Amino acid sequence: MSDHAQVLVFNAAKPADLGQRLGAWLAQQQYIIGPTDVLASQKYRPGPRAVDALDWTDPSPGDVEISVYDEAEPIFSPEGGYPWFSCAACNAVLEHSRWSDLRASAPVRCSACGETRRFDHWVAHESAFGTVVVFFWEWPRLRDSFLHDVRRLAGDFVVVGYHL
Ligand SMILES: [Zn+2]
Repeated sequence: MSDHAQVLVFNAAKPADLGQRLGAWLAQQQYIIGPTDVLASQKYRPGPRAVDALDWTDPSPGDVEISVYDEAEPIFSPEGGYPWFSCAACNAVLEHSRWSDLRASAPVRCSACGETRRFDHWVAHESAFGTVVVFFWEWPRLRDSFLHDVRRLAGDFVVVGYHL
């Protein structure tokens, strides 16, 4: 069936610390249920207060998954639109075959204007570079007040992905 997710992407300098803090807070607030020591990739069941994070009630929001990476990765949401990247200097689009296996720190030369910059200094569309990622699987649109609380706890982030 469908696999859509709203995805919060953080580009944190200390990803393991932030992943743990997010997991602990989400569990403490009862948005999720599960272990709170986030080491790498961890899935949680939605908690009893999950509906409080949503713009409208949904009988069955799915799991919440927190992933932590040592180095920033390009993150996108399944069914959230096709990710693409453009040159920060000339707006040329980077061909998919040239970025599909790249790490964020890899140098990428623009074939249109010739400038070389790190992959994560290209402009990300339908995606974002990050080291800590929270997937809300099958959750309808997250409420603004919930996003505000997350931002206050964990700093700035980008929301990518499809929402109902
Ligand atoms: Zn260019």
